[in-house]
Amino acid sequence: MDSRRRVITDAAVLIEGSRITKVGKLSEVKSGTQPEFEIDAKGMLILPGLIDTHVHLAQALLRGCADDTSLIDWLQKYVWPLQGNFDSQDGKTSAELCMLEMIKSGTTTFLESLLHTRYGFDGIAASVETAGMRGILSKTVMGLPSYGSAGGIMHPGMVEDGETCLREVEEYFKRWNGKANGRIRVWYGARSLGGCTPELYKQIAAGANRLHTGVTMHLNEVREDGEYTKREFNKLPAEFMDEVGLVGPNVVYAHGVWLTEKEWKILAKKGANIAHCPSSNMKLASGIAKVPEMIKDGVNVGLGCDGGPSNNCYDMIREMKIASLAQKARLLDPLIMDAETVLEMATIKGARALGLEEEIGSIEVGKKADLVLVSLRKPHLVPPFNPVSHLVYAAQGSDVDTVIIDGRIIMEKQSVLTLDESKIIQEANERGPNLLLRAGLQVKPKWEMV
Ligand SMILES: [Zn+2]
Repeated sequence: MDSRRRVITDAAVLIEGSRITKVGKLSEVKSGTQPEFEIDAKGMLILPGLIDTHVHLAQALLRGCADDTSLIDWLQKYVWPLQGNFDSQDGKTSAELCMLEMIKSGTTTFLESLLHTRYGFDGIAASVETAGMRGILSKTVMGLPSYGSAGGIMHPGMVEDGETCLREVEEYFKRWNGKANGRIRVWYGARSLGGCTPELYKQIAAGANRLHTGVTMHLNEVREDGEYTKREFNKLPAEFMDEVGLVGPNVVYAHGVWLTEKEWKILAKKGANIAHCPSSNMKLASGIAKVPEMIKDGVNVGLGCDGGPSNNCYDMIREMKIASLAQKARLLDPLIMDAETVLEMATIKGARALGLEEEIGSIEVGKKADLVLVSLRKPHLVPPFNPVSHLVYAAQGSDVDTVIIDGRIIMEKQSVLTLDESKIIQEANERGPNLLLRAGLQVKPKWEMV
């Protein structure tokens, strides 16, 4: 993944400090260099760390709690009551569980979309620092406990007021933005349509301009978004967002399933980005975003795994395959969304969406050393005809062997060095059922567990 899209065989990468200083054939990279430390990557694929542009860290603890439900029911009956009962230790455990899964499946950078105050922003940011990942943490900004025109439906434990949210974004920004050698950034996480007044969206846009930071928000995930803006403002959702000043290169819209051509042309013209989450959209039966059409018209599209109850995993390798297959089936066109296109979405286009194109997303001299080694010595990854095809169509997250972020080895031989995996799994196994109890909910599998 470089500007020429070369696949280099018998290759090596030299890292000095946190950056890549040489890339090429092993003999070229080694000549005149005495590395202090070498990783033998024979039989492995070296690729840029994967970039997940839409993640809910606080939903890993909710995995499997609300399957086979539509979005509004899913939110109102399960996800909000559970998250509305979170305490900061639940937030931390969930974030760590999520990061473990991301690291183990080759994700090195993520954009967290909506951190409510009760999840414990400082604890989560400290966990990102410890885990060694590159993460953008978006603090929720909301003013109304609503989704679209469905007023007052949000669980009271989730409700926050606009002024406090705006103040907290600035506080967290001061405390954490640029910390951990620049690995942590703080953005605005605007709540979906119906969750903010037009005035509040304008304040978010102004705040992001003042702090030179980004904004992320769910948009056009469901058809109801368009019905809401039509009724309230006589506009399409993206037209409305443009009017409140929230369409620009520093904005990532999650989903965009129901965007019309008119809307994605506005996004393309102004450089706004889409985080495409095909598994979540198909599982919640929201639809399939018109990604090839958007890309053709110049929209920058990254890829996202969304959350534990919607996907239900945070595995970008699996997501790449689904992103490709969904479009082929939708358009009855096997030529559409080839493996190369989805690998770009999961790497360099994701980097561009996050404003980090100069730093990450490809293996090039001068960029941050965020690298993933995938073992190809597996029955499902031979013979070696086309490594890009193998990675997208045949590999799985658990084929990732080694993860390097910011020049530091975070995972070696499938063992995460920065987080205590068994402790986190034990905590999550205890905290998940406790959370259900506090929320007064039961998850009843259709088949009796005896
Ligand atoms: Zn989401």
